[in-house]
Amino acid sequence: MGELGSNIQYLSGVGPKRAALLKSELGIETLSDLIHFYPFRYIDRSRVVPIAQVQPDLAYVQIKATVIKVDEVPHKRLSVIVEDDSGRMELVFFKGINWNKSRLIPGSSFIFFGKPQTFSGKINMVHPEVDPVQEGLMQGGLTGVYPSTEKLKSSGITGKVMCKLQAAALGLCLPELEETLPEYVLAENALCPLSYAIRNIHFPKDEYALQKAQRRLKFEELFLLQLSLLKQKYVRTAASRGILMKAVGEEFRACFNALPYSLTGAQQRVIKEIRADLMSGHQMNRLLQGDVGSGKTLVAVMSCLLAVGNGFQACIMAPTEVLAQQHFANIQKFLAPTGVRSALLTGSSTVKERRIIDAGLRDGSIGIIVGTHALIEDSVSFASLGLCVIDEQHRFGVDQRSKLWSKSAVPPHILVMTATPIPRTLAMTLYGDLDISVLDEMPPGRKPVQTMLITPQRKGAMYEFIRKQIASGRQAFIVYPMIFENEKLDISNVEQGYEEIMKEFPLPRYKVALVHGQQKSEDKAFNMDAFAAGRANILVATTVIEVGVDVPNASVMVIESAERFGLSQLHQLRGRVGRGAEKSYCIMVGGPKISADAHNRLQLMVDTEDGFRIAEEDMRMRGPGDLEGTQQSGLPVELSIASLARDGILLSEARAYAQSVLEKDPGLNDKRNALLVRELRKNKYNVKDYSAIS
Ligand code: ADP
Ligand code: MG
Repeated sequence: MGELGSNIQYLSGVGPKRAALLKSELGIETLSDLIHFYPFRYIDRSRVVPIAQVQPDLAYVQIKATVIKVDEVPHKRLSVIVEDDSGRMELVFFKGINWNKSRLIPGSSFIFFGKPQTFSGKINMVHPEVDPVQEGLMQGGLTGVYPSTEKLKSSGITGKVMCKLQAAALGLCLPELEETLPEYVLAENALCPLSYAIRNIHFPKDEYALQKAQRRLKFEELFLLQLSLLKQKYVRTAASRGILMKAVGEEFRACFNALPYSLTGAQQRVIKEIRADLMSGHQMNRLLQGDVGSGKTLVAVMSCLLAVGNGFQACIMAPTEVLAQQHFANIQKFLAPTGVRSALLTGSSTVKERRIIDAGLRDGSIGIIVGTHALIEDSVSFASLGLCVIDEQHRFGVDQRSKLWSKSAVPPHILVMTATPIPRTLAMTLYGDLDISVLDEMPPGRKPVQTMLITPQRKGAMYEFIRKQIASGRQAFIVYPMIFENEKLDISNVEQGYEEIMKEFPLPRYKVALVHGQQKSEDKAFNMDAFAAGRANILVATTVIEVGVDVPNASVMVIESAERFGLSQLHQLRGRVGRGAEKSYCIMVGGPKISADAHNRLQLMVDTEDGFRIAEEDMRMRGPGDLEGTQQSGLPVELSIASLARDGILLSEARAYAQSVLEKDPGLNDKRNALLVRELRKNKYNVKDYSAIS
C-alpha cells in the first residue's frame, strides 16, 4: 500500500487526536482523502486592506494593524482594539483567551486575517488568524481557504495548519498519484493532468493554473456522473422492448381538429418528442416538466390518444382523489369529439362502478382510465395497457410505479408529468436516466398575477380589498402553512385563521369553506366542491390545494406566514389564480419577524413569475440538496467540487461528451475506456436510480 492509503494520523503535525477530529468533522481518514479535500475559495494573501475599507460581507480580508487596547471579560471573551492609518476595529476571541492576551501586547503589530461581520452596528472580526508581520505577508499568490468547523479551529487546525498538512501530504502523494481519465478524454477536452490539477487546486501557481485545475476536476466529476447515469439508460434501452406505436390514428386527429385553440409551440414540440419515442420500438421513459398552466393535460390526453389509435389502452394516474376527479372532468372536453370511452377509478368508486370499470378494462372498451393509486391494485387488469401518464411524480414511490409494469406483457410507455420546475442541471442529475421534455411556453391569454408582500398590520386593508373582489363576483383562497412536525398546531393555525376570517366575513353575507388535511375525505370534497361551484366566496385551507385545483373564478390568493413556505410551493399556490379572465392577486403575509433571508426569498416571488427562474434561484440560495420536490430523494450523489447551481454549462458539456463516448462504446468494453470503468466502480458514482420507473 502506498502513501495515498495511509492513515492521516502519521502525517507530521497530525497525531491520533487531530486525526480523530479530522475524521469526525470532515470525513478525512487517509492522505488520499486529504488531498481530495479542496479549498472552497481562494484569497490573495499578498493584499492588505485598510481598516476603513473593510466591508461586512462574505469575503475574508487581511489587515495589518497595531494593538491599541486589550479588554478581558474573564472566561468569556477577549476584546482587542487594533488600528492602522485608516481607522480602528475590534477583534474578538472567545477561545484561547490567555494565549492571545500574552501575544497581543499593545503597541505590537500583526497581520490579522478573518471574516468581517457587523455587530451592534460596528464591524468586527471574531477569531481572526494572527501572524507576525514578516511571515503573514506571503509572496503573492493565492491561498486556499478550506471548509472548517468551530471544533477544528479551536483545536488548532486553522486554515494555515490545513495548508501545511496539504503541503506535506502532496509531497508524499503526488509522485504516486495515478491519472483517472484516459489520455484521449484529456486531449479531446483540453484538460490538464490530474497531478497538475491536484497541485494547483491546493497551491495555485497563478489564477490561470487555478482555473485549469478547477475545470479539470469539475469536468471529471460531472462527466463520470453523467457517464454512470447514461450508461444505465443505454443498458435499459437496449434491454427493453417497447410497444411499437406507428399510427397516429383517427382519435388523435379528431381531438386535434376540434381544439378551440392552436397548440403552443412547446406543446407541438413535446408531442413530437413523445411520438418519436412511441415509434422507436423502445420503451419511453420521459419526464414532462411544465409550469402550472402550461397545458400539460392536453399533452397527456393527446399522448393517450396516440396509444388508443394504435389499439392500446392508456391510464392517467393522479396523486389525490380531488386531482383525479379534476383530470377526469377536464379531459372530457378533449375526448368528446373522439368517441373514446373513458372512466374514473378512485378509492371511493363503489363496488358496482368498479365492476363496470373492470369489465371495460378487461374487454378493452375503456380506452383511457383516470385514477389514483386504486389503479395499481392487483385486482385491476387491462386488455392491453400501452401508456401510463403519471402526474406529479414525487408522490409516487418507485415500488408503486413498478407495479404498473406487471399489468402488461411488454412494459408500457411511461410519461411522468411534474409542475415543480426543476432546474435543468438538477434534472439532468436526478433524472439522468429519463428523457426530459419541457413545456416552456404558456398558452396565450394568461394574465400576470400581481404579487405583494405585506406585514400583518396591513391585513385590515387586505380584507377590505377581498370584500371588494367578492362584491364584483370573485373568490379568494386563504392558505395557512402546514407544520409537519406538529399536526395539532396545523389545525389550530388554520382553525384560528378560519375564526378570524368568519369574523371579517360574517354570515349570511359571506360564505367561507374550510379544508384541511385532518378532515374526512367526504368533508374535504364537499367543502372543496362548494368553493369550486361558487357557493363559497372564500376557501380557507392548508396546502391540500397546492396541487392542481382549478377554480378560474378565484382572483385572490392570500398566503399566511408566507416565509414558512418554500419558493416552489409559493409558486404552485400562486398558480392557482390567474386562470380566469380577470386580473388576479397573490398577497403574501409575512410573519411579524422575518429574517432578511426570508424577505429576499419572498421578494423574488414579487419580482418574477417564471417558475424555472424561481427554481434556479431557490437552488442558488438554499443549495440543491434542499430543493423542494427533491427532498424525499435528496441528491443522489455528493459532489466534491462541481456545483449543480453554478456549473450548468460545464455539466451540459460533460453530459454531451459522456453521450458521445457511449455512442462509440455503449458497454465501455474498449481497452482505452478501462480507466473509466474503474472510476465508475467507485462508490461515489454509483448513482441510486431515483428515476427508476423500471
Ligand atoms: P397544467 O396542467 O400544465 O397546469 P392545464 O393543462 O390545466 O395546465 O392547462 C391550463 C389551461 O390552459 C387549461 O384551461 C387549458 O384548457 C388551457 N390550454 C391548454 N393548451 C392551450 C393552448 N394551446 N392554447 C390555449 N389554451 C390552452
Ligand atoms: Mg395540471
